[in-house]
Amino acid sequence: QNQGLGSWIHRQRIKSGSRTALVFRDQATSYAELDDRINSLAAALRAAGVRQGTRVAFLGDNHPSFLETFFAAGSLGAVFVPLNTRLAPPEIQFALQDSGSTVLVNTLALDELAVRGSRGTGVELRLLVDDGTGAVRAEDPEGRVQPYEPAFEAPSGFADAPVSLEDAAIILYTSGTTGQPKGALLTHANLAWNCFNVLVDYDVAENDIALMISPLFHVASLDMGVLPNLLKGATVILETRFEPGRTLELIEKYRATYISGVPTTYQLLCEHPDWDKRDISSLRKLTCGGSAVPLRVIDAYEERGLSFSGGYGMTETAPGATALPPLFSREKAGSAGAPHFFTSVRVARLDGSDADPGEVGEVQISGPNVIKSYWNRPDATEAAFVDGHWFRSGDMGYFDADGFLFISDRLKDMIISGGENIYPAEVEQIISELDAVSGVAVIGVADEKWGEVPKALVTLRDGFTLEPAEVAAHLDGRLARYKIPKTVEIVSDFPRTASGKIRKADLKRQYAG
Ligand code: ATP
Ligand code: MG
Repeated sequence: QNQGLGSWIHRQRIKSGSRTALVFRDQATSYAELDDRINSLAAALRAAGVRQGTRVAFLGDNHPSFLETFFAAGSLGAVFVPLNTRLAPPEIQFALQDSGSTVLVNTLALDELAVRGSRGTGVELRLLVDDGTGAVRAEDPEGRVQPYEPAFEAPSGFADAPVSLEDAAIILYTSGTTGQPKGALLTHANLAWNCFNVLVDYDVAENDIALMISPLFHVASLDMGVLPNLLKGATVILETRFEPGRTLELIEKYRATYISGVPTTYQLLCEHPDWDKRDISSLRKLTCGGSAVPLRVIDAYEERGLSFSGGYGMTETAPGATALPPLFSREKAGSAGAPHFFTSVRVARLDGSDADPGEVGEVQISGPNVIKSYWNRPDATEAAFVDGHWFRSGDMGYFDADGFLFISDRLKDMIISGGENIYPAEVEQIISELDAVSGVAVIGVADEKWGEVPKALVTLRDGFTLEPAEVAAHLDGRLARYKIPKTVEIVSDFPRTASGKIRKADLKRQYAG
């Protein structure tokens, strides 16, 4: 009996096989058709030696084959390893090697990266998916074509794999913002409980039409968007890459109700020339995580009667920890929200005791969506938990008197100046209000008198200039003096992770001297 996610599409097929599960490039696939495709891929994977526990990696931009591989692997009890397509070949090699993946499925569009990234790893078989037709070809690492027979199997066949909810479903690498990425080992139960959180707190319904524009290899997109909607028998529209004009067009065309992204996604949409021209009144749920939604973005959407469902989370919590319902998006602007329905969140002092409301401490998370361990990293697992079940997020924050969580910043990025704690995110948010500023990072640099002082690095919008004194003037009176950067430097770009986050550790090293 397969209790895992690998059986979901089949279970859905029995209830509503003719409903549309996926739309990709205007082509609709029903739940029954998707189930057939998953079954034949599962049969081929099994013929290729994939068994319970085998790691099957996937490299490709959003494409139906991502989901087919995910469900096919799950139906066999194999572990799915999605790879970020923006990684460089050595980073792909690290993930393949670290996860011990023996099969790599990739789209043809990314074949060069797949070939270079799998060289010298344990990958024995590659399945190459034609982005256009979906046809699959098998090769060994030397590029020799191997037999591939996508045998059709009776739909009941795969569901017999004895997969339990406690079995591993995915190894998902963290962004590596604070160091080497770690493989978070997410079980079927972790992913399922996150879906239940989303179903309850974001009110997903069978008649939803979810437009997925963010990369599926991020847990946020897969688990906040795709899986809860498929679990309800709703329709998912997949876009290969995010393009604001095209996204607005698709919302209008398909009367999309559900969309998920990060604040930048929403900002780019409302700044696009077509923003006023498209009818987007069908939207009901705009889920947004990664950081707080800026007020000016909230304003632009509210003008059109739309409000956000905000959220905070991380790879290790599959990923939802807290949710901010639309009703509170203005009243509690800047908040990460309240704990998800089936998840507990606490803020702890350095000595481990519970912090009072308003008092900043480390955010810790516990619940059935939280990983039990990292893959192959007993040291990191040991360091990540308090009392055996509270996961240390590494983020600092506080609860307000109503029980809403506010994230201050990462513990590792906190600056200590003359004994006072400075959370760069607070300073960065105010600096980013300046019209000339396109990006900003505040870091601590050594100072003889204060130990550390804040320094701001700023990138400018095209055609704008900025005097360092303007930054100080803008902050004056809005922030305590010790939080105001002592120096401001204009830079052309920031070192970033493959998911686009600024690598603060690299900046600190660069400006240490
Ligand atoms: P690594 O763990 O490898 O250093 P990472 O923590 O950036 O990388 P992710 O799991 O992708 O990897 O990101 C989770 C982090 O993103 C959270 O711990 C938090 O710092 C930040 N984050 C997520 N949502 C929010 C939010 N709503 N507000 C503020 N920060 C957020
Ligand atoms: Mg992290």
